[in-house]
Amino acid sequence: MANNKDNRHGSMDTCCFCGRSAAEVGTLFSGMNGATICDECVERGYEVLQEQNKKKRRNVPALSLNQSDLLKPTEIKEFLDRYVIGQDAAKRTLAVAVYNHYKRLLAAESRGAKKSGNAANSESAQIDDVEIEKSNIIMVGETGTGKTLLARTIARLLKVPFTIVDATVLSEAGYVGEDVESILSRLLQVADYNVEAAEKGIVFIDEVDKIARKSDNPSITRDVSGEGVQQALLKILEGTVVNVPPQGGRKHPDQKFIQVNTSNILFICGGAFDGIERMISQRLNTRVIGYNQSSAQQIDRKNIMQYITPQDLRSFGLIPELVGRMPVLTYLQPLDKEILRQILTEPKNSIIKQYVKLFELDGVKIEFTDEVLDFIVDKAVEFKLGARGLRGICESIVTDAMFELPSSGVKEFTVTVDYARSRVKKSLQQ
Ligand code: ADP
Repeated sequence: MANNKDNRHGSMDTCCFCGRSAAEVGTLFSGMNGATICDECVERGYEVLQEQNKKKRRNVPALSLNQSDLLKPTEIKEFLDRYVIGQDAAKRTLAVAVYNHYKRLLAAESRGAKKSGNAANSESAQIDDVEIEKSNIIMVGETGTGKTLLARTIARLLKVPFTIVDATVLSEAGYVGEDVESILSRLLQVADYNVEAAEKGIVFIDEVDKIARKSDNPSITRDVSGEGVQQALLKILEGTVVNVPPQGGRKHPDQKFIQVNTSNILFICGGAFDGIERMISQRLNTRVIGYNQSSAQQIDRKNIMQYITPQDLRSFGLIPELVGRMPVLTYLQPLDKEILRQILTEPKNSIIKQYVKLFELDGVKIEFTDEVLDFIVDKAVEFKLGARGLRGICESIVTDAMFELPSSGVKEFTVTVDYARSRVKKSLQQ
């Protein structure tokens, strides 16, 4: 910056803003007509601007809902069908829960509009007098069966901020690990600090089964990652105003909190609940033997998960209050070979479609034979990784081709089962 000799605003070597001399500050910038500003005033000005920008963003109205673009449960399920294979029971339950959640948001919005003096439209006013309770969701199913995918797809449909958190990293306040409030910090980050948008977001809490109480006797020890975390989660799930540290993590004395109301945030919890089938069976057996012998034959033993009830979650170690805060309970089926095969090729952005596209961008037409697809599925079953394993196996099959083909001039490439087998074998030896 020019060092102007003529300083009409004050002495040439003092900051026009804070009045401190050049000797007292790090750097003194000078501008037109002898105006000067020191490095610290520049920094302070920058902070003020940042704060103002954040405030502006927070005041941007979040998604505006109206009755006309409310998708019906069957339409929501159709949307889910495009991305998620099978899991009909979970999809139907989710579709209804999301539909009701949407209606609930509408009702809340119309109440807000009424309060602020704007006449609510007559359609939403009809549902205005009754307050609809929030219905958080819990999905039970083996790892890799599509719980996260379902939650993610729902968020895509609703166009609301969405975040995934792992319950295993959470701990009771004051212990090593993340405070439960950090869940909301993440949601705020995804919503670009637009509080209103975050307050209508969706949070997927994965591995919620890992914070189950380990022993049946809750009073002897309070394990850090068990009941205490469940209690902390409970507060957030039931709808309250939470002071959220903007950057997440541990509370810092001079960190400003942002207040987030969680009453309209939809929480979807997921977990594998290993061994819960045994508890369901036990419960069914007791009931059947005790009261009604004839229904014993009607139990579909192969698919015991369909009989899951909130009581089973309690037996597993979730506290009753938490179970009560997740009134929508659904389950996901383990994926059989047929479904795995469909997952590979059918969804809108299936793994195989993604590879075809990737090669296409290099001008290469890649084809996978039917036997290769069967081989990939067999390997996924063998590795016991469910759908999660499909991508890894595909990756090991095509990595060499991805490396070599772009510079080879080859325009067509068919992946045969022998080729696939040799690549997988090679990757296992590494
Ligand atoms: P979970 O949350 O149940 O452990 P994910 O939803 O993360 O499992 O699934 C892992 C991967 O497997 C996802 O990336 C997804 O592509 C695939 N996947 C799992 N289940 C399905 C399904 N039912 N339909 C389509 N893809 C699936």
